[in-house]
Amino acid sequence: MCPAAGDTLSYLDYNASTPVLAEVASAVSAAIGRYGNPSSVHAAGRRARAAVEEAREAVAAMAKARPQDVIFTSGATESNALALRGLAHKGALASAVEHPSILAHNPEVIAVDGDGVIDLAALELILQQRKAPMLVALMFANNETGVLQPITQAVEVARKYGALVHCDAVQAPGKVALDMRAMGVDSLALSAHKFGGLKGAGALVLRPGLDLTPDTLGGGQERRRRAGTENVTGIVGFGAAAVAVPRLLAEAARIAGLRATLETGLRAAAPNARIYAETWPRLPNTTCLALPGVASETQLMRLDLAGIAVSAGSACSSGKIAPSHVLLAMGVAPDEAKSAIRVSLGWENGEKDVSRFLAAWQPLASSAAA
Ligand code: PLP
Repeated sequence: MCPAAGDTLSYLDYNASTPVLAEVASAVSAAIGRYGNPSSVHAAGRRARAAVEEAREAVAAMAKARPQDVIFTSGATESNALALRGLAHKGALASAVEHPSILAHNPEVIAVDGDGVIDLAALELILQQRKAPMLVALMFANNETGVLQPITQAVEVARKYGALVHCDAVQAPGKVALDMRAMGVDSLALSAHKFGGLKGAGALVLRPGLDLTPDTLGGGQERRRRAGTENVTGIVGFGAAAVAVPRLLAEAARIAGLRATLETGLRAAAPNARIYAETWPRLPNTTCLALPGVASETQLMRLDLAGIAVSAGSACSSGKIAPSHVLLAMGVAPDEAKSAIRVSLGWENGEKDVSRFLAAWQPLASSAAA
């Protein structure tokens, strides 16, 4: 592993981005030397092509898909756009807690319950009414709360009405098992920097035989589904991270133990704090919590001063902190949502990071109680 987080920083924001794995860093630096264009026929081009294809096999194996169905992109934002625009459908539906890169395409929104889990009955009702082949976008795991969605049940519902299912699985690799075939979805979005790879590399993975209309034109790359010279270094890093996934998964139980210690400490420090979707199956590394009366920015700043990196459960745009759309969709009151933060642990974290977090957060909890 890279010594990036080191001792001076307790980095607890793995759902935003992760440290780059050591094997990714060395594979990427070797790939920098493969400067040929993968579309060129000479030896330098062929070397770059071989590196891209090796990575494609690794990513396909990680997702339990075929290499030829992996389309490399610049990340999950692009993969989600490609699926929503490029797959054949007569309208998109999406759960209310999807990432903005899905919701920005203005799908019809399906309600979620108090834990943020899709309302399958509502989904079925809409599909019944539409009487046209729709596309359902449902994420594997929520980036803010860690909540796992009932993907296979949603696929069963969608199939009854001839709908396609696109799954934003960005938060799954290295945290929970991912098997595209078992899930039965039509397409999957992935992003390398969420499990040890570089930013700017991702993939859209298709079910065998599914057609896709490209969004970028002017080149035959990616089997004519995504024109443009491949990001060879990013793709090679993505492949190396995919190979490391079993090792990251082997850490999941230890990380779940750290999360349990964290949540016990949070409850003891602040009985009025709320941990979202506490009893629903979640990613093993994620805790989304609210400390009513203490704004997320205040918590973030105090934690940052103590050398701890976490995220707000809210979005900041044009200087205004807006409550998280995920928490609002779950029925959380806006004031409470504005006091939410997300702690997302990872492989470089240990007990000392959890103790450090609790020590820094406790005074905030006491100030809220006073
Ligand atoms: N989808 C989810 C669930 C995410 O968490 C993210 C990143 O935060 C994205 C999509 C966007 O991924 P990328 O950074 O690769 O564009």
